Amino acid sequence: MTLSNPATIVRTYYGAPQADLIAASQSDALELAKQGYSPKTQSWAPGQWGCGAFLVALLLCLFVIGFLVFIYMLLVKPNGTLTVTYEYQGPVSDTKVCPRCAETIKKAAKACRFCGCETPWTPTHRVPDQGMAAYAAPDPSQPSVVTLDGRLPLIVAERAGDWARVEADTGWTGWVDCRRLVPRSLWT
Ligand SMILES: [Zn+2]
Repeated sequence: MTLSNPATIVRTYYGAPQADLIAASQSDALELAKQGYSPKTQSWAPGQWGCGAFLVALLLCLFVIGFLVFIYMLLVKPNGTLTVTYEYQGPVSDTKVCPRCAETIKKAAKACRFCGCETPWTPTHRVPDQGMAAYAAPDPSQPSVVTLDGRLPLIVAERAGDWARVEADTGWTGWVDCRRLVPRSLWT
């Protein structure tokens, strides 16, 4: 029996406040990464009170209660919607390709069993001590998808201005502010 994975998964989070939704999406992102999915795009739509709600409040203004309803509507933000689209990156395997001899070796291997070269996965940078936010796309107007642990080693795979697409040794990939990354030469 073969399991076929859908190319994309769309997760929608509905509620308030926005921080709760982001926390929910982060735990989902970690879970989906194990199945080979990386977040691709995300969007945040703040909630709005419908026209109907305002009309009802207006009618109720004939009675004192309407003023209270208006005040409530001004003070309380309705639920917003956070939508995250995940793209299937291929099955997560426990193997990698040796960069020197191109043989397939175990991901956890410290040295290649074919050519003997050491640590084929070599990080180029690491996350600053206090950790940092990572994004699905180089766009800071969107909420971050995950908070990376401090000192996590990474490989910078791609750059776009002040942004870097980084890869962790788990196969996870995402965008971060590359000005905050600590290059390997400065590690202590
Ligand atoms: Zn090798």
